[in-house]
Amino acid sequence: AAEIFVKKQTIDLRKKHIGPSCKIFFSHDPVKIVRAKGQYMYDEKGQRYLDCINNVAHVGHCHPDVVKAGAQQMELLNTNSRFLHDNLVLYAQRLQATLPDKLSVCYFVNSGSEANDLALRLAWQYTGHKDIITLENAYHGHVSSLIDISPYKFQHLSDDERNQTVHVAPSPDVYRGKYRADHPDPASAYADEVKDMIHGVHEKGGKVTARHSGVCGQIPVHKNVSSGLFIFQDMRLQEETNQKEHNNPCDTGGIHIAAFIAESLQSCGGQVIPPTGYFQQVAQHVRKAGGIFIADEVQVGFGRIGTHFWAFQLQGEDFVPDIVTMGKPIGNGHPMSCVVTTKEVAEAFMSSGMEYFNTFGGNPVSCAIGTAVLDVIAKEDLQGNALRVGGYLARLLEQQKEKHPLVGDIRGRGLFAGVELVKDRLTLTPATAEAQEVIYRLKEQYILLSADGPHRNVLKFKPPMCFTEEDADLVVGKIDQILTELEEALGLKLQNALSLENGSSKRKLPAEENGHVYLGALSHDRGSSRGLPQQAKRLRT
Ligand code: PMP
Repeated sequence: AAEIFVKKQTIDLRKKHIGPSCKIFFSHDPVKIVRAKGQYMYDEKGQRYLDCINNVAHVGHCHPDVVKAGAQQMELLNTNSRFLHDNLVLYAQRLQATLPDKLSVCYFVNSGSEANDLALRLAWQYTGHKDIITLENAYHGHVSSLIDISPYKFQHLSDDERNQTVHVAPSPDVYRGKYRADHPDPASAYADEVKDMIHGVHEKGGKVTARHSGVCGQIPVHKNVSSGLFIFQDMRLQEETNQKEHNNPCDTGGIHIAAFIAESLQSCGGQVIPPTGYFQQVAQHVRKAGGIFIADEVQVGFGRIGTHFWAFQLQGEDFVPDIVTMGKPIGNGHPMSCVVTTKEVAEAFMSSGMEYFNTFGGNPVSCAIGTAVLDVIAKEDLQGNALRVGGYLARLLEQQKEKHPLVGDIRGRGLFAGVELVKDRLTLTPATAEAQEVIYRLKEQYILLSADGPHRNVLKFKPPMCFTEEDADLVVGKIDQILTELEEALGLKLQNALSLENGSSKRKLPAEENGHVYLGALSHDRGSSRGLPQQAKRLRT
């Protein structure tokens, strides 16, 4: 009953009517899912898939309490938030109770992108500054303002095509990044990079100091992409006010920072866990220069990390962002999201005199659903489950690292984990094709996992929070088998992986010989009809 067209027709219609840049998983043989429950998804033939990646279905796909809350409210009323409604204030109160007291004002919107776009507007208005510092490999959303701050998306653009008010700080990745686990204080080292950026120490093609044509007090509020022209807005008055309160970095050739934005744990960027204390120090540098700190919790919030409800809390009780953005899991699949900030930031936004209205944000149905999600997390102790099952999963994965040379690093918190595959543990050469091979072979065994990060070599776990130890056993058991076969095919052994000079650890996949990664080349059971996944086609080894 859930299928209207046979699979081939669905594919053909999708090709005809859906934008070709809308990516589909496993494009050579897409999965058609017709229903889902808990951590399982079912295709049109009734085949069950274990879902290890869908953090949107946070409390489990189609959780009955959430479905019921939404349906009941839909029967009664759904309208915009210009009318008084108890659901809106009740939900805001419930959400606030999970956050530090200071973060007390909510704006309800409909997607992670809307939340981050609004967060930028709040920051610009509150600080009177325009510059944003973002992290390498970050992804914050699909609207224009966020493509500008998402190196994950814009890294193929030339310097001239990029927004000149956006600055990219090194990702605080202690495995592959600039400062690694053997550094005595990676938190300070990475935070100092941000400090230097604010003060114009790191010039990239002269951009940090010479930006804005060197006109202090004028900031570009809009860049006309086609002409490349900046439209300037006179911000002198605002600047003067800010200068009274803060050091003016412009005097020293630095930037006018409005905000530093980062995911509390980078997800698309490769499941990166920043060192403790990094956010505190960054916040200090940023605030001293008149900017604010935005924590993007779109992927990692709502108890996923197990020990805390919000991932920024991993940094310590002394760290409170100025703005937190939420999305994905907040509505368990219902499109809703939220920006939470301080009274001061909200009042500054109000002082612009511009009303903020959002047709769907904070409607009674969304708020009923959001409240039901919070209820289920508490009732089923899903945060506790994330801690327990996440810990179990981490132990299983650590065993894989001991056994398999391809496994370079295991990292994560709770049910947010990453397994970085490398061809060589010393050079850290990314095992991109191998990671993709793992994903494809798992799919053939009805397990859904993804590989991400700048090299697409990090296996990424972020399953629904009802994931069990048996589920963890199943997926890790399959990964074990696949890695064993891959390593046999490549002639990799653990001791080889530890040697830089070992020839076998450098052996190429059969289809890499001409410089291209060819996914599926190691599979015995597939013909050439499979095709190449788009992102892999572009990769060169
Ligand atoms: N922030 C982060 C960290 C994300 O991962 C995403 C989506 N993947 C977004 C923001 C944007 O959310 P949406 O797709 O709901 O607009």
